[in-house]
Amino acid sequence: MSEVIYDFTGNPFVDAGIWAICGLVKKKPDELDKNDLKSVLSDVVQLYLTKKWSKNMYSIFPNNPVTNPSVKNKEERYLKILNQLVDEITPLGNSGSCISCGRRNMLQRSGKDRIPLTGSKRMVNYFSFGADGADYCPACALAVQFTPLVFYACVNLLLVHSNSEKIMKIWSQKAIKNVRKQISSGNYTGCFDEGYKNQKNALFHIIELIQKLKERPDLKKNNLSINFYYFTNYIQNPDLEIYHIPAPVFNFLYDANDIGNYENWMRIVRKGYRYVNWEKVKEENEYKNNPNTVYDNLLIGKSIIGFFIDRKNKEAIGGWDLLGHYLEEVRNMDEKRIETIKKVGDELAEYIKDSDDIKTLKKLETANNYRNYRNLLRIIIKKRIENGAENPLFSFDDYVNHLFPEGNLTWRETQDLILFRIYEVLHDWIIQQGISEKLIIEEEEEEAENV
Ligand SMILES: [Zn+2]
Repeated sequence: MSEVIYDFTGNPFVDAGIWAICGLVKKKPDELDKNDLKSVLSDVVQLYLTKKWSKNMYSIFPNNPVTNPSVKNKEERYLKILNQLVDEITPLGNSGSCISCGRRNMLQRSGKDRIPLTGSKRMVNYFSFGADGADYCPACALAVQFTPLVFYACVNLLLVHSNSEKIMKIWSQKAIKNVRKQISSGNYTGCFDEGYKNQKNALFHIIELIQKLKERPDLKKNNLSINFYYFTNYIQNPDLEIYHIPAPVFNFLYDANDIGNYENWMRIVRKGYRYVNWEKVKEENEYKNNPNTVYDNLLIGKSIIGFFIDRKNKEAIGGWDLLGHYLEEVRNMDEKRIETIKKVGDELAEYIKDSDDIKTLKKLETANNYRNYRNLLRIIIKKRIENGAENPLFSFDDYVNHLFPEGNLTWRETQDLILFRIYEVLHDWIIQQGISEKLIIEEEEEEAENV
């Protein structure tokens, strides 16, 4: 019979705890035995009893021996509970009443002092069927006791959970490294904390940390996703928010965080911060907790195309390559449409430059309804033919199926993408023209006078 204790359960708290133990003893989940578990109990309890860690415990395990003020011999009491759980562990079987692994039986029901966000023992009024807790087997309940080691503090706590063992491994190692640093320096600062107070920004930072680690384990091609559980188990107001990062967004971020794109991606992200006076900003801490529309939009599936465009400096941030990844991966735009828009952008750029017609660029930028925009393209088509252009700007099929497939609904998106491409191709030329705003206004005035 197999002696394996731990396998992937799908329960975020239990899995995080299993990987925390793995990080401590440097083994894989299925290699852990009772000796491994016993070997780390004392160090962990002592860590939890330090000032900052015990403060975190109020939001994780309220009323456990560490946080319960009436318990005097805290270390002894908590160790006794943990040792008892280890003693009760049996290897994984085929079935059982545990709601986490389903492969062992619950022996004693766990309340919120042991498993966050479960029942409150005698205060049963808010739980289904008046249950006083949740059915966790000793092995799963024990694993959860290690989760504080891999939580990320940003006011409340973030729990990282993924369907990928590699991600779980990378993250637990990163967090345990932070714990070891605290122990070796004697400077106990509590759960992993880098000064984030905004959980959405923090979770994108965590993704960046995971993706930038050296190992880079085929993260992209395996269609991995991550969930973040932002919670507090604080006795007065327990709370939970769940953020799901689907595989397409994770894949795109993998490209964005890549060395070649990172600097540009950070420019795009910085454009997303709200309420920042960039003239006065000296360091990251002054803005990293402000709400960020780029991050918010990625979380709710709204477009961030506009943030790739620097309208003031007529610049296409990140180039077509990075934007193309975004359109394909996250917006699920079909390749033919992306190609067509790029081609039309190229042709328009060529036309503007060859005919020295910066006024047309201005019109492409400022057209504010679908009808005007179509009219403008029609005029350009006519002028191109007059100039002897060999190929049409676009075919009827391109127009209907790829440029404006949903007409009035998505024409703005097409306008932005075309503009992006023109800026990318013509940036140097436009700068040479001195972004001729003044010139255009003068010309328009002249035209008006001539009418
Ligand atoms: Zn279990």
